[in-house]
Amino acid sequence: MVRLTEIKLPLDHSEDAIASAILKKLQIAPADLLSYSIFKRSYDARKKEAIVLVYIVDVETTQEKSLLQRFKKDPHIIPTPDMSYRMVAQAPDNLASRPIVIGTGPCGMFAGLLLAQMGFRPILLERGKAVRDRTVDTFAFWKKKDELNPESNAQFGEGGAGTFSDGKLYSQVKDSNHYGRKVLTELVQSGASPEILYINKPHIGTFKLVGIVQSIRARIEALGGEIRFQSRVEDLHIEAGQVQGVTLASGEYIASSHIVLAVGHSARDTFQMLFDRGVYIEAKPFSIGFRVEHPQTLIDRCRFGDRSGHKLLGAADYKLVHHCQNGRSVYSFCMCPGGLVVAAASEPGRLVTNGMSQYSRNERNANSAIVVGITPDDYPGHPLAGIALQRRLEERAFELGGGTYDAPGQLVGDFLADRPSNTLGTVQPSYTPGVQLGDLSLSLPDYAIAAIREALPAFDKQINGFAMPDAVLTGVETRTSSPIRIKRKEDYQSLNTKGLYPAGEGAGYAGGILSAGIDGIKVAEAVALNILQ
Ligand SMILES: Cc1cc2nc3c(=O)[nH]c(=O)nc-3n(C[C@H](O)[C@H](O)[C@H](O)COP(=O)(O)OP(=O)(O)OC[C@H]3O[C@@H](n4cnc5c(N)ncnc54)[C@H](O)[C@@H]3O)c2cc1C
Repeated sequence: MVRLTEIKLPLDHSEDAIASAILKKLQIAPADLLSYSIFKRSYDARKKEAIVLVYIVDVETTQEKSLLQRFKKDPHIIPTPDMSYRMVAQAPDNLASRPIVIGTGPCGMFAGLLLAQMGFRPILLERGKAVRDRTVDTFAFWKKKDELNPESNAQFGEGGAGTFSDGKLYSQVKDSNHYGRKVLTELVQSGASPEILYINKPHIGTFKLVGIVQSIRARIEALGGEIRFQSRVEDLHIEAGQVQGVTLASGEYIASSHIVLAVGHSARDTFQMLFDRGVYIEAKPFSIGFRVEHPQTLIDRCRFGDRSGHKLLGAADYKLVHHCQNGRSVYSFCMCPGGLVVAAASEPGRLVTNGMSQYSRNERNANSAIVVGITPDDYPGHPLAGIALQRRLEERAFELGGGTYDAPGQLVGDFLADRPSNTLGTVQPSYTPGVQLGDLSLSLPDYAIAAIREALPAFDKQINGFAMPDAVLTGVETRTSSPIRIKRKEDYQSLNTKGLYPAGEGAGYAGGILSAGIDGIKVAEAVALNILQ
């Protein structure tokens, strides 16, 4: 197969335009083009009046050898790389002890799936409920029909933190082994649309994710794995620097000398337990800020002009960065086109926001987190000090929202003018349970407020209307990534605890669904190879 990159075609190109472009580029006769498949489709919208689709295609041709020779100096015509995944190990029939995976977020699920595919029959332990029951609890909380359930919410339960999300599936991690392709392929086999394999910035959307998560569970079980819900790991047993097993909240002890720790960034009680048991943990940078909501039409117009609404473009996204005079950087994070701001709390009396979308991305508002990078210099002294800061900010937000999980909010115009808001304008916030307008400058440290105040007008220069007075801010965003890193060695085991494999976002090794899934695969391989040693 021959891979051709940079095939640019107009947005409304005809069906046979790709084949014609291939023939033209390769200078071959139609009979020599046996077939082609689209490897990637993106768009270039830098010129709004002339948006183009950009394709990477894999071509099957009778002329492969001669073409690769003829175009050997052309970086846009190369042999199609082999991206298929091969298992690194196979479990023996007499497997002495089954590996444990703590957590069933994307990291734990992919670690579990890979271990199951290699025959290691993993035991997955999840503190929350199965995804359908979890959905009932979470949606009841959002609709004020039930209290926050600290074990079953937007963070905890089958599928992990990203289950009620936009399901964006892209990441910037280096991936020379094509693990990302393996993650996407498994998601398609579990019910995701095959388009996630070739669209440049794919997303799945909340309701589809629920079904996919169930399907991955069924596949792990069919391969001999076991998934236990409402099974919070409360203690880790370590002897002479080697893990021996875990104790669950029920008191049950499960022995294993290979334990994947994929607990996500919100497992604060678990981090404390690990720290108390002497597992090496250090503080790491993360970010804090607000969600901002604009009309999606404003973002679409700015990015796509007259082509807004085109079905191949979908709802527009954005990515913004501003380096401030006080040395801080402010950036947009987890942008959800046509989405909703959601209550992502997992601890009573503490409030935190996040964003999600359905596959259709057709809600009226665009939202993203506008956050300021902070480092351990801002919370010095203790490896878990970042968690203490998160908690203080989340408690403050809870109070400012009126103590009912309504989020504190403010209009952008008022925030910039340093006056409290008391009435909404044209933008209706989407956060449920509800929004209490007031003064968000009370919710974050002064340096963060100053940085966001400087960044919003700067963002307005990139997206005309970004600082529109009626845009709504809701607070607070504190869980952009883990405030700790549970350091591991090159063999993926903890720096000082053999047999413990810190993984995914909570351990500081991933920052989204795709990268967490990739990390799960890497760790599963390490576990398998170490068991076989
Ligand atoms: C609302 C929302 C929207 C998001 N949107 C996106 C998006 O569109 N795209 C994207 O890439 N990322 C998104 N993210 C981030 C993404 O979800 C995370 O990066 C990802 O889920 C991290 O995966 P993980 O497996 O490392 O941890 P998690 O997904 O957090 O999973 C950890 C799991 O461990 C369980 N657990 C914790 N402690 C214990 C214990 N002691 N015992 C047993 N089980 C335990 C938890 O219940 C949880 O299920 C979003 C997050 C949220 C909250």
